[in-house]
Amino acid sequence: MLAQRTRVYAAEAITLKRMDFGEVDRIITVFTPEHGKMRLLAKGVRRSTSRMAGHLELFAHSHVMIARGRDLHLTTQASTIEPFREVREDLQKSSYAYHLAELVDAFLQDWDPHRGVFILLRDALAALAEVVIAADVIARHFELHLLDAVGFRPQLTSCLSCATEIRPGDNGYSVALGGIFCPQCAAQEPSTSPIADDTLKVLRYLQRTQSVRGITIRTPAAVSLDSERWLRRHLEFVLERRLRAVEFVRHVAETLNGYRT
Ligand SMILES: [Zn+2]
Repeated sequence: MLAQRTRVYAAEAITLKRMDFGEVDRIITVFTPEHGKMRLLAKGVRRSTSRMAGHLELFAHSHVMIARGRDLHLTTQASTIEPFREVREDLQKSSYAYHLAELVDAFLQDWDPHRGVFILLRDALAALAEVVIAADVIARHFELHLLDAVGFRPQLTSCLSCATEIRPGDNGYSVALGGIFCPQCAAQEPSTSPIADDTLKVLRYLQRTQSVRGITIRTPAAVSLDSERWLRRHLEFVLERRLRAVEFVRHVAETLNGYRT
């Protein structure tokens, strides 16, 4: 509640969305560890003389000074901690960053602080900026740990019905019930669909790998596609709406593949 009382306060922030407002202003949706997600009015930021210009770029990690306004809060100063320029300047990386930002925006309410999700987002953007881990693997890791953080952790290690440990075989995944059923129980549960062992193995690996920096696997294209499909269905079921950036990621991937051939 500190944020509600103090007139001006400092925060770390990652820019999730930006929208031009009026002639020279911008409304910026930021995510902060202590105060959650909020919309800020950045006055005059589109003037070339603005000291804040260049410090509130999309996906950048910044220090901001926030002042309580009557309708919207205002940002009065900003300085960049980590610009993540590589993410913004690369079409594929930025398409994934849009996806991560859309998920944070969709899953978290305004003023709902969530330090764990902030660190998850910051680390995912940092990993995207590097080239060590494939962008789609970073996104799947983020999705699994975001679901966990907001209370929808998919159950992937034991059967949701009989609690036996899941082994390779004809297991079924139920998006509606939030996880895996063993072959015997899957046969009785109409909401399950068969899930491939390789896909389940990757999802389980990413779920138990706490930090994105700990990821050491590369996944074959078919497993990547299948993992994306399962998690998208899971996320969209929980959110009760379709994710827009998913289409953007796919369009960019198809365009880039088209150029390569
Ligand atoms: Zn079972």
